[in-house]
Amino acid sequence: MLFLLHPALELEAVEVKGPSPYGSGSREEKVAFDKDDGLVRLRFPQRIGKGEGLEVVFQYSGQIRDDERLKIGPEGGYGLSGAFWYPQNFTGDLHAARVSLHLPNTPDRPDGLVGVVPGTLDQEGYFSPILPVFGIYFAYGNYTKKSIAWRGKEISIYCTNESATIADQILKTAEDILEFYSQKFGEYPFDNLTLVETELPAPRGAPSGAQGIGGVAPPTLVFLNSILLRMGKVPTNLLAHEISHQWWGNLVPVSLKKGYTPWFSEGFATYSDALYVEKTLGRERMMQHLVKMGHLYFQSTLYLEDEPLGTCYINSPMYRPVVYAKGARVLHSLRGLLGDEAFFRVLKEFASGYALKDATLADFKSIAEEVSQKKLDSFFEDWFEKKGFPHYKISEVKMEAVEGAPQKFHISLIIEQLGEIFTGSLEVAFYGQGAEERKEIFFGERSAPLSFTLPFKPERIVLDPDYWVLREPSGDDIWPRFFRAGGAKK
Ligand SMILES: [Zn+2]
Repeated sequence: MLFLLHPALELEAVEVKGPSPYGSGSREEKVAFDKDDGLVRLRFPQRIGKGEGLEVVFQYSGQIRDDERLKIGPEGGYGLSGAFWYPQNFTGDLHAARVSLHLPNTPDRPDGLVGVVPGTLDQEGYFSPILPVFGIYFAYGNYTKKSIAWRGKEISIYCTNESATIADQILKTAEDILEFYSQKFGEYPFDNLTLVETELPAPRGAPSGAQGIGGVAPPTLVFLNSILLRMGKVPTNLLAHEISHQWWGNLVPVSLKKGYTPWFSEGFATYSDALYVEKTLGRERMMQHLVKMGHLYFQSTLYLEDEPLGTCYINSPMYRPVVYAKGARVLHSLRGLLGDEAFFRVLKEFASGYALKDATLADFKSIAEEVSQKKLDSFFEDWFEKKGFPHYKISEVKMEAVEGAPQKFHISLIIEQLGEIFTGSLEVAFYGQGAEERKEIFFGERSAPLSFTLPFKPERIVLDPDYWVLREPSGDDIWPRFFRAGGAKK
């Protein structure tokens, strides 16, 4: 079995107990291991059966310096799982852990330091996660704790004096978000939620001096970047994104199973944030939010090699634009295709059906097909296997008054797809003389000739006026063509 452990740390001994679930077995044995440049290879004395748990006890020591993901100082600090400050299995392997966290009792240690970990911390300082987790995180500092009760659970925030003025507002917002997601995705899956102000490093691979990430959200915990909190304004979008990870990434865990996609965590979290915008500020503001996502992705495709959503992973430079931004838009398209009732039922069934289980894209697709009773092969092929986005163009618009009925107009047009062909249904809206009429059309080919009779003379034609589908923002999807920076205006 392979583990990762920071190269600066010395591994002294490894022991196994068990095998039995969660390792309360009686047998204890030393395990042979070797450690090479951060990679620890364990050779177990016997095979571990399917479904059996094993407790592995590591004895190691040392000091980590110059790792942005582990900051230890006299005033405060934090540890993220990616710093490899403990022997860590690979992302996607869930484990439970008992960790003892102690601050050295030195004379220069200030009073009142408070430690925060996901799960519970007992008197002796043992951290016991309630559920298996994929990583261990902690933070400590000179915090003030505030909390509120919500449905018999505790929502708390640990913050510094500088941010204490907005702590109550943050708790209220967090409560509102939890309430909303519980309705949309299913009951909040954990016993409590703890928000913690802390410094955070820049994303992996970012140029030096880059801004720190806004937040990180392991189970039951949300780390929020101090810089954002000290601006004195509740970072609502960040909170909505990070809190949704309790469902998307924690309840349905991040996995490395073949066919898994990080879209389940980051695409879903980005769209969850948009859903909360819709709930609090309305549909129009949500659309603006989503259009902005689309532009972030479009811009990135101008200077980076695009990648399909289904196979874009964290090491790709397109990870954020494709998985977060395009991913949120694709989830919105699925909502458009299924309708609200079926779409939210799919999310709930996915969250409950894959609680603490590895899910693949195929698993999600089959839930979506079963709930909606629709075949979704072409949707998933187009949006997860292909790069890019559709480019629709309205052309050859012709109209004439119907003979003997001067109010009625016969209209014909062609809708072409330039570039890669995407399949599906779209609405076409006709506007004129204060009237509006919409027709649903199906695309499966390079061009679709259409003709309709309308009870008015159309002055404007807009393809997909509610902007369900991410598409080339050139304005070719509007007739007469004009440049449009935002969503369709009626
Ligand atoms: Zn996220």
